[in-house]
Amino acid sequence: MVIKALWQNLKDLVDFDKKVFKLTSEIDSTKKAADQDTNQIPKLRALLEDKKLVWTHLQKNIDSLELDAKLFEEEEKSKKEKLDHIKNQKEYSALETEMGHARNKRIKIENQITEYWYQLEQAKNEYESERDKLVQKEELFTKDLLTKQEHIKDLTQQIDVLNEERKTFSDKIPADWLTKYERMKHSVDDPIVPVVNGSCSACYYTVLYQDLLKLKKSGVLPCRNCYRFLYYDEEEEKSLLQAKY
Ligand SMILES: [Zn+2]
Repeated sequence: MVIKALWQNLKDLVDFDKKVFKLTSEIDSTKKAADQDTNQIPKLRALLEDKKLVWTHLQKNIDSLELDAKLFEEEEKSKKEKLDHIKNQKEYSALETEMGHARNKRIKIENQITEYWYQLEQAKNEYESERDKLVQKEELFTKDLLTKQEHIKDLTQQIDVLNEERKTFSDKIPADWLTKYERMKHSVDDPIVPVVNGSCSACYYTVLYQDLLKLKKSGVLPCRNCYRFLYYDEEEEKSLLQAKY
């Protein structure tokens, strides 16, 4: 069995943790998306309620106008009956004028009712088509939500399996290094980086000569500027430099 250097074991652990982190982030984003789905449904329902309100409001207006129209119709009718018993010409024309007023008012109200009826029909149609759309959307959201929940379950299982596996990586690292790493891993994405051209490849801080000597003997040291773990790998340095120029 090849004995790996500390920096190699640390890198293995970092790579492993990155896999777990990726899965965890995926769970978070899926959960957020699922929450959005869940929030959409009440919003759609509220929108539908608004449409219904327009329609019930119109219906109320129509009901009250119909009552008014009926009152004027009755007024007109009773005046007409009176008219039949009046002999005096002056009284007759006064009553006839009053009757005309009542009729005009009734006609005006009836026109308004017709207009409201037209609006009511439109509002009803709109409401019904929105309601049908909502039913379809709700079905889609519910289906989508189930898929997302399944996905989260699957990812969680994958993480559980990985967490059991993690010990085989962390066991290879001395306790004090492990503690240092655990402290750092949440603050940076790349806790261990190679030295390239005599500098930390993350923050470009120059590594002291004596530190570089230690690193070249397969050691690991924290960068004096950014505190990331530094290691030295001749092969990696060569390929990184080649890629750069
Ligand atoms: Zn650094």
